[in-house]
Amino acid sequence: MRTCVWCDSPLPEPQQKGHRRREFCNNACKLRHHRWYKKMQHDAGMIADPYWKVAYGVLVEQYKLLEQQLQDCMNDLTEMQERVDIFEARIDTLKELRRLDETVFQNKLEDKDVEITRLQSLLDQMSKRRR
Ligand SMILES: [Zn+2]
Repeated sequence: MRTCVWCDSPLPEPQQKGHRRREFCNNACKLRHHRWYKKMQHDAGMIADPYWKVAYGVLVEQYKLLEQQLQDCMNDLTEMQERVDIFEARIDTLKELRRLDETVFQNKLEDKDVEITRLQSLLDQMSKRRR
């Protein structure tokens, strides 16, 4: 036997199938139950509120900390990127210097070739004169 949610009086069974089964014996019980339920929810909210405020505060602090850590990481990254840029610029400079060195070396080598050729022909001439 089902009974009223509020006063525990027996409830009549539904007359037709498919009808929603009643929870209360009358509207007065229904109203009292709803008032009680509302008040209970309100009280539960009052109890829970400080907890959620604290929990929310903790979350906000954790969020701030994470954001600070993220900011620090971003700063480190920026600093590292700047260092990388400087190193890359140095590498470019060294490469350029090496290329210049190679060019200079190549030019000197060609100068020596010219000189060797000149000396060779000079030697040839001298040897011809001796004969
Ligand atoms: Zn009732």
